[in-house]
Amino acid sequence: MKEPHSQIRATGSCLCGSIRFEIRGPLRDVIVCHCVFCQRSGTTAWTEYKAGDLLLLAGKPKHYRSSPLSRRGFCGKCGSQLFIEAIDGSRMSVAAGSLDQPTGLRIAEHIFCEQMGDYEKMPVLPRDAITPWTRMKAG
Ligand SMILES: [Zn+2]
Ligand SMILES: [Zn+2]
Repeated sequence: MKEPHSQIRATGSCLCGSIRFEIRGPLRDVIVCHCVFCQRSGTTAWTEYKAGDLLLLAGKPKHYRSSPLSRRGFCGKCGSQLFIEAIDGSRMSVAAGSLDQPTGLRIAEHIFCEQMGDYEKMPVLPRDAITPWTRMKAG
């Protein structure tokens, strides 16, 4: 196994802070994945690091084998989806939303758009045309 880079590129954590990590090495720009797995698991914006560049500082993710090719790492306490790891080690993704700001990243691509939820396919409305949920609750 290769030695991790010495330079810290990013730090991040789950929602409750039980899992904290740093990434030493380059990050790819963000890909927003609209596949049904990402929709159901709750995380859709992913960046990628090189295998071996992730250092866990606190906590240990639980894993779910989401497909024959990959498993997803999440916090067993707060449920934050943090990682997608290819079983063969070829691709390692980390949730862009788990990274501390500023990330210096931008969205490069949207993928699996054909699986997008129907609510995402609605035309984009001006901000004041969207009913605030407080009013919706009041009926
Ligand atoms: Zn957590
Ligand atoms: Zn996906």
